[in-house]
Amino acid sequence: RDLAVLDARVSGCRACPRLVAWREEVARVKRAAFRDEDYWGRPVPGLGPADARIAVVGLAPAAHGGNRTGRVFTGDRSGDWIFAALWRAGLASQPTSTHVGDGLELGDVRVAAAVRCAPPDNAPTPAERDACNPWLARELALLPRLRVVVVLGGFGWTALWPVLAAAGYALPRPRPAFGHGVEVTLDGPRGPLTLLGSYHVSQQNTFTGRLTEPMLDAVLTRATELVRP
Ligand code: SF4
Repeated sequence: RDLAVLDARVSGCRACPRLVAWREEVARVKRAAFRDEDYWGRPVPGLGPADARIAVVGLAPAAHGGNRTGRVFTGDRSGDWIFAALWRAGLASQPTSTHVGDGLELGDVRVAAAVRCAPPDNAPTPAERDACNPWLARELALLPRLRVVVVLGGFGWTALWPVLAAAGYALPRPRPAFGHGVEVTLDGPRGPLTLLGSYHVSQQNTFTGRLTEPMLDAVLTRATELVRP
């Protein structure tokens, strides 16, 4: 199986009734500023090439961001932050991501979310996280050169452990706590894999200064150092 097949399959998933109802309701009602647009209103697949050595895992699509544009992190403030940072790190062809077909290309990085459907209040339940975990597991398994996972926020950090355990990675006990700049390297069937924690690029963090551009740049610089020594 390849990523294109996976992307098509996840786009049709309806496993979580609450999220299916929410994503479709948002797409029907729309935000006034986007009333002339056709919302995607479905699960949002990952973005980036199959030979990526770095993955960036966020929380979930935003109601009027990825759920509108159909592309992960695209069309909202969180996306403004992450794609500008990827561009500064040499991993994106341009610093903005506004819509499918805007010319953005990613190199050596695949961006995905732990939960693929926009949740109410940006808050998936643990059951929804667990339901979506197999999609993340399949996606990471389809990145044969993967060496680094940048995890945006504690939700993705928690979601990743069972995925990595199922993939045969030896997990530390106790699990390392999430934090900005935390770095953990695991041994697994495809060699070492390093997890790098970063505060999420949510407005709650970026507006308050909890996450600054230099802080995010430092994590992505570390990621590129690990794959390009
Ligand atoms: Fe499917 Fe994941 Fe969306 Fe649930 S959150 S409906 S598992 S794609």
